[in-house]
Amino acid sequence: MSELSVLCDQIRICQKCGLGRLRLKAVPGEGPENASIMFIGEAPGWHENQQGRPFVGPAGQFLDELLASINLKRQDVYITNVIKCRPPENRDPLPDEIAACADYLDRQIALIKPKVVVTLGRYSMARFFGQESISRIHGQPRKVDDVIVFPMYHPAAALHQPRLRQDLINDMKKLPAILADLDKIVESKQAKESPQQLSLF
Ligand code: URA
Repeated sequence: MSELSVLCDQIRICQKCGLGRLRLKAVPGEGPENASIMFIGEAPGWHENQQGRPFVGPAGQFLDELLASINLKRQDVYITNVIKCRPPENRDPLPDEIAACADYLDRQIALIKPKVVVTLGRYSMARFFGQESISRIHGQPRKVDDVIVFPMYHPAAALHQPRLRQDLINDMKKLPAILADLDKIVESKQAKESPQQLSLF
């Protein structure tokens, strides 16, 4: 059994925060262990909680369409979330829930070693870029530590705010060129600033 499978099994029985008691199924993530691209969403929703799989509801359907627009299938990429269990009523994740899950995400990134991490939505973006505004930095790849991070809006946001739909489509279209051009991407200044500075934004 691979280290990643062992980690996913740990996530399935995790009780590190209160969501462990409320979930039906934890959603560790899925995809090839050597994926070049890793998508990180926010948290499982109703459908994901039922099935134990990421992005299988309406937002996932749009993510599949976005992937198809660059000739990728979900089986070609790794898909996971910042937190692995559904918050009740799909409320935003709480800081202690994000903190409890942080080590799982770190270990997934370390084991998969993706070339590009695509963050979907604010919570996932904040993991790499602190308090930056997603409307300002979406669609701009930056190097953070050893990985290229590419922030995008969350696909669910486009279902509620149609004007974001085209931004998501345009940003996704940039991914193939980013993969082809990995060396030229600049280091993120933001990532080098201290957390104290970040909180001033
Ligand atoms: N939204 C997310 O952020 N993740 C999922 O897995 C599904 C919907």
